[in-house]
Amino acid sequence: MVRPILLYGDPILNEVSSEITGQLKSGVYVLIDDMFQTMLKANGVGLSAIQIGVPLKLFVIEAHMEAEDFHMRGVFINPKILREWGEDVKHPEGCLSVPGLAGMVERPDNIELEWYDEKWEKHTEEFSGYGARIIQHEYDHLQGIVYTEHLDKLWLKAMQRPLELIEVREMEVPYLWK
Ligand code: ZN
Repeated sequence: MVRPILLYGDPILNEVSSEITGQLKSGVYVLIDDMFQTMLKANGVGLSAIQIGVPLKLFVIEAHMEAEDFHMRGVFINPKILREWGEDVKHPEGCLSVPGLAGMVERPDNIELEWYDEKWEKHTEEFSGYGARIIQHEYDHLQGIVYTEHLDKLWLKAMQRPLELIEVREMEVPYLWK
């Protein structure tokens, strides 16, 4: 089921998500399915559970860049960034909760991530470049952080008015379905 996506300014987006343990473990399949449907309908490449109002440590990613032969699809449950290294790279980011906008965010180029997939198999893997960036963006959501918190003063100033429009829900959002 496609679910409504929470928008910038919604205080739920600043909540810290909880680990998925115990009985919740068997109930996440419907949530995962809803998240993929919602993300794909909104043309996003990543979505965290908190963005549809569920404060659990879970995000899904589906990103393809044909030119770079980059393909990534995965379910990330209870993820932990074990380490980050390499150059800090500046790159524009967008977010389904901040529709129509993009801002320059600086992040380390490499990470090592530990997580569980939808079959509850544990993985540990290194990511770099675009993959590392999407993961760090989604990982931030689980800590209650929206990428706008990483913007420098100039960017924030440039985006202030459109952000206010989103906050008061006057921005036209193509995927603001009910
Ligand atoms: Zn986002």
